[in-house]
Amino acid sequence: MATKKTAARKKFKITYATLGMPSPELHSNFDKSLERVKAKLGQTNPMFIGGQQVSYGETFEDRSPINREWVLGHFQKGNEQHARDALAAARQAFPAWAATPWKERVKILRRAASLIEKRIFELSALLSLEVGKNRLEALGDVQETADLISYYCEQMKSNNGFVKPMAKETSKHSNLSVLRPYGVWVVISPFNFPFALAGGPSGAALVAGNTVVFKPATDTPYMGVELARCFLDAGVPDGVFNLVTGPGSTVGQELIDSKEVDGITFTGSYDIGMRIYCSFTGCAADHYPRPCIVEMGGKNPAIISRKADLDMTAMGVVRSAFGLQGQKCSACSRIFVERPVKEAFVEKLLALTERIRIGDPTQRDVWLGPVINQKAYADYMRYCEELSHTGKVLIGGRHLTDGDLSKGYFCAPTLVDELPLEHPLWKEEMFLPITTIAAVDSLEEAMQHANDITYGLTAGFYSADPDEIEWFFNNIQAGVTYVNRQAGATTGAWPGYQPFGGWKGSGSTGKAGGSLYYVQQYMREQSRTVIKL
Ligand code: NAP
Repeated sequence: MATKKTAARKKFKITYATLGMPSPELHSNFDKSLERVKAKLGQTNPMFIGGQQVSYGETFEDRSPINREWVLGHFQKGNEQHARDALAAARQAFPAWAATPWKERVKILRRAASLIEKRIFELSALLSLEVGKNRLEALGDVQETADLISYYCEQMKSNNGFVKPMAKETSKHSNLSVLRPYGVWVVISPFNFPFALAGGPSGAALVAGNTVVFKPATDTPYMGVELARCFLDAGVPDGVFNLVTGPGSTVGQELIDSKEVDGITFTGSYDIGMRIYCSFTGCAADHYPRPCIVEMGGKNPAIISRKADLDMTAMGVVRSAFGLQGQKCSACSRIFVERPVKEAFVEKLLALTERIRIGDPTQRDVWLGPVINQKAYADYMRYCEELSHTGKVLIGGRHLTDGDLSKGYFCAPTLVDELPLEHPLWKEEMFLPITTIAAVDSLEEAMQHANDITYGLTAGFYSADPDEIEWFFNNIQAGVTYVNRQAGATTGAWPGYQPFGGWKGSGSTGKAGGSLYYVQQYMREQSRTVIKL
């Protein structure tokens, strides 16, 4: 018989598309887990290499951006040797894991997804403390991880492990197409979705039969350690999933430079992603091409027609511009609105922005938390100063330091008007709660600005006119597009619902996470022909 607790968990299913009214049980489960998590903070955590817990003395501290007095834990400052050890462990474990029948791999990965769901409240509480994400979004990040893993398992199953009969020349022939794993796969994740963007790619790589070396962002090592625990507790064999923590510039770079790596999935900024892509696929004379999935930044536009429903539009734009403090790759950071409706739209936008509750995002009623670290906090002020000289700050533009806010990195959501369209900040990803708005004379003008950029991740459009909607889809250069979405103009995706991947400088493959075409990227095709004697 299901216990009350598991029944509550079963009822709970959150997606970014349905950040609706969660049940009181959900909140009380989260509150209880938060207390439990806070009671055990401050421990020293290992890396996981070849099934062994590795602690070697040199550690770094992980403090919460909500309150710098909260030490979440201590983590190993891994170095180049740890990266090499992890790759060697993954190499050694590869033959047996690749030879494990795909149905068995699916079983183990499904077990990992269920464990994540079982631990969802504690994991989300920790994630909220580590990233500064509000509780519903933290729950969403963890649930999405389980769903991504389950989705890739389902893809394996519905494609019969990607073993497919082909046409035969004669009755004596048997022809097969088989997708097989590459080998050792490196996964490098960003701070902002430290569970879903680590567990999703790792789950795909593993279920496809690769072994994995995973490095989380330095700002979010705790979620990396917890992900490793979920995989290992689910029965992923020794050496099949390895975790190294430490700086990207040392341990990360060693992973990128190694010839022991057969494939990479990197999610992070354009600058680092492009460097990795160019060096990894650059093909040194004594090596060969290897797959490199890089998912990078965005500078995502919302285009607003004079035929839009402005209330719905304002809600969608505010959610996407400021959700997670503007630190989503899909954040709406550029707004192009047709001139006749601009004034009315801005009024609604400001009214909604003023109502945002800012504070400790683990608390039930708080929607906006802190930015991730001291650098982001300082960048915010630097950008605001520049924007107050070159544009007009309509709201925000300051650090928030009242009471306990002074202990964290809190920044006011900021809307900027009248920034000249040739200003570089229209093209730079600030990755902060800052959005710029411009009036345009036509939708064509808006589209020209929207596409005149290196990035091509997400985009939103608001209009009641079906012809305008069709025109938007046909012309916008972005991998993830939304029309008339109140839940978020440019943000929100769920495996099996909205595949998520960028075009142009936002992504290298043109195949999106959580989509029908994702897991195949972790395998290479072998065509098998046998002629019966
Ligand atoms: P980041 O600074 O680019 O770091 C991403 C990861 O790369 C971190 O784990 C980092 O480690 C590591 N790294 C840094 N230098 C490295 C090197 N030389 N070799 C190997 N690894 C290295 O990004 P972030 O600030 O964590 O995340 C924000 C960025 O991610 C934004 O640009 C956002 O748009 C993008 N993003 C994209 C998507 C998408 O799906 N397209 C999703 C989420 C986020 P350290 O932390 O130790 O430096």
